[in-house]
Amino acid sequence: MGLKVEDVKAWIMKTNEQIQQNKEYLSELDQAIGDGDHGTNISRGFQETVNKISSTEYTAVADLIKDWSMTLLSKVGGAAGPLFGTALLKFSGAVQGKEEIDYGSFVEGVEAGLNGLILRGKAEEGDKTMVDVWSPLLTYLKGREALDADDFEEAAKAAMENTKNLKAKKGRASYLGDRSIGHLDPGSVSSYYLFSSLAQVIKE
Ligand code: ADP
Ligand code: MG
Ligand code: MG
Repeated sequence: MGLKVEDVKAWIMKTNEQIQQNKEYLSELDQAIGDGDHGTNISRGFQETVNKISSTEYTAVADLIKDWSMTLLSKVGGAAGPLFGTALLKFSGAVQGKEEIDYGSFVEGVEAGLNGLILRGKAEEGDKTMVDVWSPLLTYLKGREALDADDFEEAAKAAMENTKNLKAKKGRASYLGDRSIGHLDPGSVSSYYLFSSLAQVIKE
C-alpha cells in the first residue's frame, strides 16, 4: 500500500460517486431513525470537496486530505459532516510530511481519525454511530501488517451491517430507544462507502 496524491484523489472521487449514487438510500435510512437528511447533507459536502480538489494542485497527501476535511467541516450541516470533517482533519495531521501513505501511516491516520470522532461526538463503540465502523476497522487494521483490499472491504461491510442490531445511544436516533434496533445507522453506511471506495482504488 502506497497512496500518493493521485490515489487519494481517486479515493475521494470514488467515495463521492458512491455517495451520489446512494444519496436517496442514505436519506431513507435516516428517515427511519433520524430526520431524513443524511444523504442530502453528505452528498453536498462530498460534491463540494470534488469541486475544490479538482481545481487545486497538491504536492502533499496531507494538504489534500486537509482540504477534504475543511470542506466537510464548512459545507455540511447536521452531525455527520463535522464528524467526518474532524476525523479527516486528524487523519491529515497523522500523515503530515508523508509523500505517500503506506500501511503503517494509514493505520495511524485511521486511529487519529477515530480519536477525533470520539472526542467530538462522545460516542463509544456500540452506540450505533459511525464509530461502529471506524473502531472495528481500526482493530482489524492493527491486527495485520498489509492491506488485503477484498478482506478489508468485507470487514467494513460486516461492521456496517452489525449496526442494525444495535440500540442508538447517541445522535437523533437515540430518541427512538429500542425502536432504533433493526435499522442500519446511516452514518455507518456512508463510512462504509468511504472505506469500500478505498478498497476499490487499491484494487484498480
Ligand atoms: P443529523 O443527525 O444532525 O441530521 P446526519 O443525518 O447527517 O446528521 O448524520 C447522522 C449520522 O451521524 C448518524 O447516523 C451517526 O452515524 C452520526 N452521528 C450522530 N451523532 C454522533 C455522535 N455523537 N458520534 C458519532 N457519530 C454520530
Ligand atoms: Mg439526519
Ligand atoms: Mg439533520
